[in-house]
Amino acid sequence: MGWAIALHGGAGDIPLSLPLERRVPREATLRRCLSLGIAALKANQPPLDVVELVVRELENCPHFNAGRGSVLTTNGTVEMEACIMDGNTKSCGAVSGVSTVVNPISLARLVMEKTPHIYLGFDGAEAFAREQCVETVETGHFITQENVERLRQAKEANRVQIDYTQPSHGDTPPQPTSADNGDSQIGTVGCVAVDGKGNLAAATSTGGLVNKMVGRIGDTPVIGAGTYANTFCAVSATGKGEFIIRATVARDVAALMEYKGLSMKEAAAYVINSVPKCHAGLVAVSANGEVAMPFNTKGMFRACATEDGYSEIGIWDTEVEHNFIDLKS
Ligand code: ASP
Repeated sequence: MGWAIALHGGAGDIPLSLPLERRVPREATLRRCLSLGIAALKANQPPLDVVELVVRELENCPHFNAGRGSVLTTNGTVEMEACIMDGNTKSCGAVSGVSTVVNPISLARLVMEKTPHIYLGFDGAEAFAREQCVETVETGHFITQENVERLRQAKEANRVQIDYTQPSHGDTPPQPTSADNGDSQIGTVGCVAVDGKGNLAAATSTGGLVNKMVGRIGDTPVIGAGTYANTFCAVSATGKGEFIIRATVARDVAALMEYKGLSMKEAAAYVINSVPKCHAGLVAVSANGEVAMPFNTKGMFRACATEDGYSEIGIWDTEVEHNFIDLKS
């Protein structure tokens, strides 16, 4: 038993040839966010605060698909989504269709703490943000040149990044198109954490899919699909939302532990293998401080650390940076 933390910056068809100028800032952000989360856990901050803190930081980074770096809808607009959940109480909050809120994850937490509801979307979520005086900006703040270009390429190839014109059932992996310039797949962000007493929390935030329909809601804010926490584990998923929702990915990990007695690693691997190949990944921690980070995509930006001093930062299956760091210092 000990604290543990895991975070992700999205799973997808990340080519091994990912240019250094795209790889380095993302790895640096993962490292920085991991250190931030470790410091917060060591300072005995509650896991719910830790996951919110880390996801806010990831939302502020334009290199990931959440907050500042959110990808664009087919109309060139931003519709962000986020979800947060506390394992002990199963309290949770979620937002969708947010277009001016700097940190949607904190708005999701306010929905959880300040409303009788769980999930607010679109105009109602924006009005609530103003009522709560959270930081908002002109929507143009979120429209980066990189995402304008990603949208252009997706439209040229007539695809949603996870393409609803391609087969959406069965095991057929998406076929590469001219839009796969090595960076069409930027990722959703998420963080899960457990403290030394077994308190768990999960948080996930996203801009969704490039060229998604206006109004589309993915797995991220759907409790039990992209995000879930109970007293067994905390899970944050990433990948193609339509597949993750069908497979109730996050809840299934918890259910396999609870009802089948599987270890978290076994449960997480089982669930990821049950999603059609190339479509999903997740990070999870258990109440006793185990970590799992399986994915069936080419890669997943990810990082983790545990109280016994183990830490890992990786993108693909190989080339993982394993470290034993002295976390006591
Ligand atoms: N799961 C997200 C969605 O479908 C996308 C991602 O994880 O990158 O909205």
